[in-house]
Order: sequence, then C-alpha cells, then structure tokens
Amino acid sequence: MDAANHSAYKRIVVVGGGAAGWMAATALATAQPASTVELVESEEIGIIGVGEATFPSIRAFHKILGIDEAEFLRATNGTYKLGIEFCNWRTQGERYFHTFGDFGALTGPQALWGQHRRLGDDALGALGEQCLPSVMASQGRFQVPPEREQFFNYAYHFDAVLYAGFLRALALKRGVRRTEGRIVDVARRADGGVNQLRLADGRTVAGDLFIDCSGFASLLLGRTLDEPFVDFSHWLPADRAWACPSGRNGPDLAPYTRATALEAGWAWRIPLSNRTGHGHVFASRYIDEERARTQLLEQMDGPPLAEPRLLRFTTGHRARFWVHNVVALGLSSGFLEPLESTSIFLVQSGLGRMIELLLQGAAPGRQAVADYNAGMVRQFERVRDFIMLHYCLTARRDSKLWRAMMAMELPDTLAFKIHAWRQTGALHQYSDEGFDATSWLAIHAGMGHWPERADPALREMAPEAARQALLQRRASIAAVVAAMPSHDAYLRSVLAR
Ligand SMILES: Cc1cc2nc3c(=O)[nH]c(=O)nc-3n(C[C@H](O)[C@H](O)[C@H](O)COP(=O)(O)OP(=O)(O)OC[C@H]3O[C@@H](n4cnc5c(N)ncnc54)[C@H](O)[C@@H]3O)c2cc1C
Repeated sequence: MDAANHSAYKRIVVVGGGAAGWMAATALATAQPASTVELVESEEIGIIGVGEATFPSIRAFHKILGIDEAEFLRATNGTYKLGIEFCNWRTQGERYFHTFGDFGALTGPQALWGQHRRLGDDALGALGEQCLPSVMASQGRFQVPPEREQFFNYAYHFDAVLYAGFLRALALKRGVRRTEGRIVDVARRADGGVNQLRLADGRTVAGDLFIDCSGFASLLLGRTLDEPFVDFSHWLPADRAWACPSGRNGPDLAPYTRATALEAGWAWRIPLSNRTGHGHVFASRYIDEERARTQLLEQMDGPPLAEPRLLRFTTGHRARFWVHNVVALGLSSGFLEPLESTSIFLVQSGLGRMIELLLQGAAPGRQAVADYNAGMVRQFERVRDFIMLHYCLTARRDSKLWRAMMAMELPDTLAFKIHAWRQTGALHQYSDEGFDATSWLAIHAGMGHWPERADPALREMAPEAARQALLQRRASIAAVVAAMPSHDAYLRSVLAR
C-alpha cells in the first residue's frame, strides 16, 4: 500500500452515485468525520436503477446509519422481504421457499429436518412448516419480530432509483459534497495510484483515496488501473436481463421475491408498494434476446408500465478490489447474477471491511490490503457457489441450459460441500460465507437433495418424542402466524406512522 499514514486519506472521493456510491458516501461520512467526502456523479450517464431485492444484512447497515425503517419504506416504495420463492427449479411445477429463518437444530438428535425425514410421515406436514417465515410467506403475512425474540430475519424490496436518492439526501445532510459532471480523464501519481479526475467541463477533483462506484464502466479499477477480470461465466452463464415494471395487481402484497426458472434462465418478481418489478435473467448462448423478452412479458402479472430494458453483464469480479489508492465497490468490482439478491450485500461487506481498516488510524499496510482483497475474493466465491447450488441440483432436462447446469464441473469448494452433505448430512461452512448453514439446508431440502444415510445420532431420540417435537413446533408456528396481519395491512400501518 502506498499511503503511509492516516492523513494520506484526508480527502476521500467517491466516483459514482448509484446505490453503491451513496451507500459508501453515507457510511464514510458517518464513520469518518475527520475526512472530507466528495461524490462525483454524472446525470447524463445515470445509474443502473435495478436491484430491488435485498439481503437481511441491510438492516444492520441502516441501523448503523440511524435510518428509521418507516421513513425509508415511505421514501423508496419499499416492502418487507422474508425470502425467495423458487418455482420450477427442480422440476416444472415444484416450488420451495428460501426464507431467512431457521429449522431448529441442524445436527445431532435434535435436528428436526433429520427427524422429519427419518419419520417420513405425511401427517407431519412439509418440512417448510417447521420454519416460521416460510409459513408467513406462504400465507402472505408479516410482522416485525419483537426485539427480544428474534424468531427470524428479514430484508426489503425497494425502488433502486429512490433508494439512491434517499441515501443521497442523508449523505448531503452529513456533509458529503456532491459534484455533478462526467469524468473524462484520470490523472495518475508516479506510483501508479490515482491523483485527480478531470470532468468534461474542465473542472478537476483531487483526492487521497478513491472509491470506484462507477458501475459496469469500472472507470478507475478496470479502465484506468487495468485490473484483470476473473470471469465466472463458464459456471454462471447468464449474461443478459430484461427488466420491466408492471402495475400493482390487487391488494395481495407478497412478502417475498419470486424466482421462476425458465428455458434459459429465470424470471424475478419483486413486489413494491406501488408497482411490481419484473425481470428475466438469461444466458444469451441458449436463447435469443427477442424470445427472452417475450418470455418476460408472458410472466408479468399486469400490463407493462414501460418498455422492457435490456441489460448486459458478465459474472465475475476484478482480481483485486483494492489497488494503490483505489477501492472498487458495487458493479465496478464485480457482479454475480441477482438470484439471491447479493450485490448490495457485497457492497456492504466491502464497505464494512474498508471502513474498519480506515478506522485503525494509519493507512492500511500491504498485508492488510492483501487480506482485504483475499477476503473479498472469498466472499464472491462463496456467493457464487451458493447460487450455483440452485442450478446444479436440478432434475430438469428440458432445455440446453438445464442439461448444461446439471452436467457442469463444479468449483472444488462447492463440490466438497455437496459431497459432505450427501455422505454425512454435514452443512460445511468456510470462512467469509454469505449464507449460513440454514440457507444451504433450505436449498438442499427445496431441491429434494438429501444425504445418502441418516445420522445414527437421530436414533438417540425415540420416534414418538421426535414426532411430538415436530408436531409441537409446527403447531406453535401455525398459531403465531395465524395471529399476524397480512403483509399489506402491516405495511400500511408502518407507513402511516
Ligand atoms: C439485472 C440486474 C438485476 C439486479 N438485481 C439486484 C437485486 O435484486 N439485488 C441487489 O442487491 N442487486 C441487484 N443488482 C445489482 C445492483 O443493481 C447494483 O449492485 C446496485 O444498483 C449498485 O450499482 P452501482 O452503484 O455499482 O452502479 P450504478 O448504479 O450503475 O452507478 C454507477 C454510477 O457511476 C457514474 N458514472 C459512471 N461513469 C461515470 C463517468 N465517466 N463520470 C461520472 N460518473 C460516472 C454513473 O453516473 C452512476 O452514478 C442487479 C443488477 C442487474 C444488472
């Protein structure tokens, strides 16, 4: 690392005013009052404006920033998200939930998923009935869990453009300076780092640390520093998406995202309070753009409110995320298809790690930066593996995509996890996981992928005791959910606060 002490970072410049840029600027202004934070964005270029589903960690982020939930939901047409409903992933017609809740113990005699399977009794209901938010989702109900009894976790859906605007207002209040203009040139320091930006109208913006949030352009890390791109498209072949909103269809507001597997990709459905976001993520090597567009329009629950918009991307990430005095966050650092809504989570993860280093006083040394980069690479790889799990367990053979996905050679890290689960029922976790063991269980279970042998420890519980434990948990979850309001009613009560 170049900078030798903390004063080297007195002027922090954020490049780009999408969700990543404003998240970075707001968090830096909140955590680093000793530095000036300036954000440069171009209205002419605009922001990508998609990215409407999130991951529960966003709530911790909002808490740190002191964001009021009701205010945020009002400003962004937000709704609550309990998880994702996956339709047609194993076979056409099958569906399952991946929600942010637990199924009780995961190992030993108390592992309810193991007991449920061991007993194999239809009278016990589906395994999903042992998970509170899955039952809430299936009934369209929602209520924030009481502070002291964190039964489950949740996230949000929101309008991505409004979210960037909401954070912008907050950042400006906290002293961030906003400069509007198109960057046309980047001046380098003798050591290779970035010195200053030149705008189209001739103004310059100098800084000590540059946060590259310039979206797919990757203006600083990619274009200027020429950091190589690690391409994952042989594992995750989707490279295009059509996105299009429709009107809100009726009063039923699903508290979850839906991801429906199609011939050459999958379609998202994201309910906001005023409209529904739709999109079709697909692999252009298996379907042409026009057919993919038609498939999106067929999926939508209401007439389109705009012309579908085509987005092109390559899945993967830059080899390093922090190089010289440039740190890339958001799309400029990499992208994984949005099946599990992880992009904003990855921004948050990078931002948290970066701020922790900046708060140590002195500028991070070579080793700290290398550790940052290795941690971010691992984080991308863990999320990649989790996304791949949804595809590779498929029993579909009806199109080229699905045949390719089930026959694909997996990364070692994923192959080992699948092997461990199949052989022993172990939900192996590496460092820097984005998804915990319960999430992995939800996908294995949803895809009907079970260990070859039952854990002998399950026999330590008598079958009748196991049966009672399952029935009791199922009944208490059913009773809690029956007393909850609908998502729509609950949201209206929050928005009226
Ligand atoms: C199809 C699709 C679906 C997605 N769905 C989800 C999802 O459900 N959940 C999720 O978490 N994420 C999702 N994402 C990712 C999400 O959209 C992004 O992570 C998020 O919006 C952050 O984007 P960004 O800020 O990195 O880039 P952008 O929003 O593109 O912002 C880039 C900024 O850089 C500025 N800029 C670029 N070049 C210049 C220049 N020369 N001069 C000045 N300014 C410049 C632009 O004006 C803009 O302000 C999705 C992405 C895609 C493609």
